[in-house]
Amino acid sequence: MDFVKGEPLFTKINDVPTQYPYLTENLESDVIIIGGGVTGAILGYYFTQNNINAIVLEKSRIAHCSTSITTTLLQYELDRNAASLKDKLSSTDIIKAYKLGLAAIDNIHQFVETNGNGCDFKHCNSLLYGTKKSEKTELFNEYQFRRDAGLDVEFVDDISSPYNFPISAGLISNKGGAVLDPYKFSHQLLSVSAKNGLRIFENSEAIEIIYEKNGVTVKTTYGHELKGKIVICATGYDTKLFTKQVFGTKSTSFNIVTKPIPNLSDLLQNTVFRDNLPVYHYFRSTPDNRLIMGGEDVRFIPDIENEHLRNRAYTLLEERLKHMFHEYNIEIEYRYCGAFASTSDDLGYVGRDKKHANLWYCLGYGANGILFSILGAQMLVNLYQGKVDENIYLFGINR
Ligand SMILES: Cc1cc2nc3c(=O)[nH]c(=O)nc-3n(C[C@H](O)[C@H](O)[C@H](O)COP(=O)(O)OP(=O)(O)OC[C@H]3O[C@@H](n4cnc5c(N)ncnc54)[C@H](O)[C@@H]3O)c2cc1C
Repeated sequence: MDFVKGEPLFTKINDVPTQYPYLTENLESDVIIIGGGVTGAILGYYFTQNNINAIVLEKSRIAHCSTSITTTLLQYELDRNAASLKDKLSSTDIIKAYKLGLAAIDNIHQFVETNGNGCDFKHCNSLLYGTKKSEKTELFNEYQFRRDAGLDVEFVDDISSPYNFPISAGLISNKGGAVLDPYKFSHQLLSVSAKNGLRIFENSEAIEIIYEKNGVTVKTTYGHELKGKIVICATGYDTKLFTKQVFGTKSTSFNIVTKPIPNLSDLLQNTVFRDNLPVYHYFRSTPDNRLIMGGEDVRFIPDIENEHLRNRAYTLLEERLKHMFHEYNIEIEYRYCGAFASTSDDLGYVGRDKKHANLWYCLGYGANGILFSILGAQMLVNLYQGKVDENIYLFGINR
């Protein structure tokens, strides 16, 4: 089954900074992280930062699955507005999730301040906008909810909007977003962590996990074994090796990327955008002034295999972008899509398996996948160190 289709921007434009070896011997470690996408890299970073011995095992190439196609538009807000989530989460928990998202963006900011900005990280504003008059009230209510919670937000309408595309209303979150290059970020995390002792293996697939009383054995292709105290599932949307539990509803999300646009406005360069539709669209710029737009989600299986549906989604995105920005010469250079998973409360999954205490998960499901992985990794380090994490219940495996 393919989790990614097309030619992703980030793996195309970047050189491979480091090729990691494949596993050629049996090894032991405290923590075994399965999956070498951005989540595995984040986990490797936080565990080794805390002097905990860890190994990352990737069956294919580092950051070549979902991580290669993420738009990496980082926003603290959840996929849906607070009013739509009230059946699933209390207001207190929604605000807590928003504030944790902001904290996760700050964590990445601190990472690049300490280690250098090797991943094109940029802190920016975030705009949630509507185009229909009927969306104005909903957006205003969301604005009030966030403002009353102390978040730094502004409300704009069609007259006061500073943006160069039509909106009926918008909620600007000052410094509520960020962008980065997910391929470079994953590699930078691994390179920093390798210096702290993280062992990383590419082209090495975990094919069986044996759960023992005091640990786990991970069997890999070509017969080598890893022994550890715990194994962490960081395999993104492919969790079947570990469990039959269904964590989220899978869909296929689509991205198109323009050629560089020379006269892209400063506001487009310094804001991340999402519209307020139930199946929403999102866009951001890149350091070389491209626009990446995503959305038009359809079912995952079998739709991802349907070339006609894929092309239709790319065409719809292109038409939308051209309709929004008449003044730019928009030519599409990249088109790709892949699996995405949403959950009933828009939060990911972090914690211990209900059956095997030595099996832990860090699954960044929902639109904030990368931010959830940042939070999840820190929560799992706390769990490993026997500390009580006051927020892990939000991401509970059995909720
Ligand atoms: C079009 C699109 C846009 C998106 N935009 C955003 C966005 O703007 N912001 C955001 O936060 N999120 C976004 N997401 C979600 C984002 O892609 C994910 O949150 C993130 O990339 C997941 O990373 P991961 O490391 O968990 O998974 P992956 O990148 O899929 O990594 C899992 C890795 O595990 C490996 N693996 C699997 N099984 C095994 C095994 N048995 N042994 C060894 N290795 C194994 C795989 O090869 C893979 O490399 C988007 C998703 C899509 C499809």
